[in-house]
Amino acid sequence: MTALALTDVNKSFGDTHVLKDINLDVEEGQFVVFVGPSGCGKSTLLRVIAGLEDASSGEVRIGGEVVNLTPPSRRGIAMVFQSYALYPHLNVRGNMSLALKQERKSKEVIAERIATASRMLNLEPYLDRYPSELSGGQRQRVAIGRAIVRKPKLFLFDEPLSNLDAALRMNTRIEIANLHRQLGASMIYVTHDQTEAMTLADRIVVLRDGRVEQIGSPMELYNNPANQFVAGFLGSPSMNFFPASLVHDAAGDTMGIRPEDLFISGDGPIAARVNHVEHLGGDTNVIAQVQEHQITARLFGQHPIREGEDVRFGFHPQKAFHFGQDGLRL
Ligand code: ADP
Ligand code: MG
Repeated sequence: MTALALTDVNKSFGDTHVLKDINLDVEEGQFVVFVGPSGCGKSTLLRVIAGLEDASSGEVRIGGEVVNLTPPSRRGIAMVFQSYALYPHLNVRGNMSLALKQERKSKEVIAERIATASRMLNLEPYLDRYPSELSGGQRQRVAIGRAIVRKPKLFLFDEPLSNLDAALRMNTRIEIANLHRQLGASMIYVTHDQTEAMTLADRIVVLRDGRVEQIGSPMELYNNPANQFVAGFLGSPSMNFFPASLVHDAAGDTMGIRPEDLFISGDGPIAARVNHVEHLGGDTNVIAQVQEHQITARLFGQHPIREGEDVRFGFHPQKAFHFGQDGLRL
């Protein structure tokens, strides 16, 4: 069963064409991540799915039903925002039960759903606290709990971890992945963070300037990017790009090599001068100058390389990507 189907969806604000011919099917139970740089239209697309914005053209179907004219409250969705959007005058229990009260659910049902959600999210000790008495991570869990208790057909998350510090982001990311496993629900998750996309998604939708650049599993996109944009967006440190003529006779095309695919080799084809070294313990990132290009090599383990050293990098030819002048993979 298809949880969500978008057909030729466009959205304009006045003269600004923000979403361009979006086509997408999300299967029941899938975790789909929309990723792309800030301003590419991720939130707008999520809001069109939620019904907070109308599509200018095209069709939105949820669970097989066309919902273009259905108000948000009747779409069977629940949305979690970056800003949490909790009611400050209600405690955790009150925040979690509000939507259910509006749906006129019985006291027993409400109590049961809050008990289940707060157990899943480790919120049981905090049910009587107010949002101002919670940490950022706890507030975000309440926002997620408020979505869970509604048992939506489709969860929509808009950059839910952006306000959390790095360590908490990682923990909460793992919690969201566990939650998806437990609930088996369909989820759409928006982020500009390629690590979140890679680690959470069954399928990633890469957006750029209002268009879908590529759709696929994280490893499909990583190993087989359709174009230079996708190749450069996924992976950290990101893929190195330089004219292919730097290493062999080639007219006009761009070569791409991931940092982890470069290695130090006395007779390697890339002669470079080391600009900077990041000793991370487990890895060493070497940032080096090749003519007017800067490249990054990610070496496994620890290496006594110093700034200013001349080095040569090698790579296995099958690890190199080639892109034409239009950015498409050759
Ligand atoms: P993202 O979430 O990927 O950062 P958004 O979907 O928020 O991007 O915005 C995409 C583009 O649409 C931006 O250029 C933004 O300025 C524009 N936009 C979003 N909402 C509105 C609006 N209500 N009116 C006019 N332009 C908007
Ligand atoms: Mg956004």
